[in-house]
Amino acid sequence: MSRIALYDTTLRDGAQGEGVSFSSVGKILFAKRLDAFGVDYIEGGFAASNPKDMAFFRDIKKENLKHAKVAAFGSTRRADIPVGEDRGICALLEADTAVCTIFGKSWTLHVRDVLRTTNEENVAMIADSVRYLKEHGKEVIYDPEHFFDGYKADPEYALATLQAAAEAGADCIALCDTNGGCLPHEIYDITREVGRRISTPLGIHVHNDSDMAVANSLEGIRAGAVHVQGTINGFGERTGNADLCSIIPNLILKMGHECLLEGRLSQLREVAMYTYELTNIRPRKSAPFVGESAFAHKAGMHVDGVRKNPDSFEHINPEKVGNNRRVLVSELSGASNVFLKAVEMGLSVDRSSPEVKSILAELERLEKDGYEFEAAEASFRIMIQKVLKAHKPFFDLEGFRVIVEKRHKEEPCITEATVKLSVKGETEFTVGEGDGPVDALNAALRNALTRFYPEIASVVLTDYRVRILDPEEATAAKTRVLIESSDGKDTWGTVGVSENIIEASWEALVDSVEYKLFLEEKKAREDNG
Ligand SMILES: [Zn+2]
Repeated sequence: MSRIALYDTTLRDGAQGEGVSFSSVGKILFAKRLDAFGVDYIEGGFAASNPKDMAFFRDIKKENLKHAKVAAFGSTRRADIPVGEDRGICALLEADTAVCTIFGKSWTLHVRDVLRTTNEENVAMIADSVRYLKEHGKEVIYDPEHFFDGYKADPEYALATLQAAAEAGADCIALCDTNGGCLPHEIYDITREVGRRISTPLGIHVHNDSDMAVANSLEGIRAGAVHVQGTINGFGERTGNADLCSIIPNLILKMGHECLLEGRLSQLREVAMYTYELTNIRPRKSAPFVGESAFAHKAGMHVDGVRKNPDSFEHINPEKVGNNRRVLVSELSGASNVFLKAVEMGLSVDRSSPEVKSILAELERLEKDGYEFEAAEASFRIMIQKVLKAHKPFFDLEGFRVIVEKRHKEEPCITEATVKLSVKGETEFTVGEGDGPVDALNAALRNALTRFYPEIASVVLTDYRVRILDPEEATAAKTRVLIESSDGKDTWGTVGVSENIIEASWEALVDSVEYKLFLEEKKAREDNG
């Protein structure tokens, strides 16, 4: 099997996606992370399109990347202009990167209606541009835009454009399905045919408009391409680009190709999450390989099967891509799930013990009441400890009060909460302000606790979700509140249910704080031996 070159275009094509944007520092951090991961090419952006991209090309040089080559992106020269006078081509040289990637037209429809030039001039534009960049010592990757559509419309012309790039010295020709409409068998057939006619190494660059981008990339490689372009997490315009987070493990684990630096595949999930973080986008839970749910088992029989032999319900070992097997807690699950969850949490219980039965009974009771623990593992853990009588409360609530006041219609609401707690034998009475009742209660709770538990200061609420249950009985509708908290390292979810939204929120808040204190205590215990 062969070595496949990985070409990342997250910073250029990926950043065209809705809601995707990198800060200047973020672009550098991203490139450094991909370099350490072992991606071969990192496209930094459009040469000359905006000052931020040009600044990236300047700054990345100081970072001395160890493995990856940086590519600047641009187009072939414009029609009827000498190549050395073309602004875009000059900007590609100014970017001063080892690699230049240029796109050109191979579809007669585009030549006629978009470029508004002749087929002959288009071929000359491709040849001139590739040759000029080669003469200036660049590694040149040629991206024939809309290649597959162009080939379907007029195969001989589409091939003639590639021939021009090949003869001018292109190092690689990355066939593009720019509109993302092709199906895998078409990609295979056309790539194979191109390989018979053109001897330059081929690459594949596809978009996901038909939900085929990963399959199309793999088919391109099966048909002979040795270079694949894509983005981390499939970021990109419309429905996105080909997702390298799926392409890479499929290439290595399923097709036996080599790519990345040796032994780096287990960093895949981390790289995916880091990229979400840099772009401030919420991770897609169901993402294959790297998503939080990718190896999460819920149905009782699956869980039992996975416990007996993971291969029974998993296509790969999650550790290979740096992910984890998770067991979801729900009423579907039965004793196997509860047992596995307890084991995962480090509790020593017997599978058929009365403890597992009482945990299951309590779980059923709570779920009937409207609790849901799938996104609230911290609450589930506290519940187990309560059932096992191993729960140690870190404080006791004596009471709270929340006031929401609007003094004038032009002024925003003011919210103030007071809480009364007993902590380690002392009574604390504190006030907190916030944007709303939950925020104010959270502030008051922390004010009361930080003197006793300074580690609470690092916890922030990262998400707050409210769901109204059984709305058909409007008088007794219950509210379920899910809170997600983070201390910068760990993230955990807690749940509260009540007919009163404030009470439900309080319950979830208290679990969140207790879970953090429990984690700290556990860590201290482990550190002491
Ligand atoms: Zn593209």
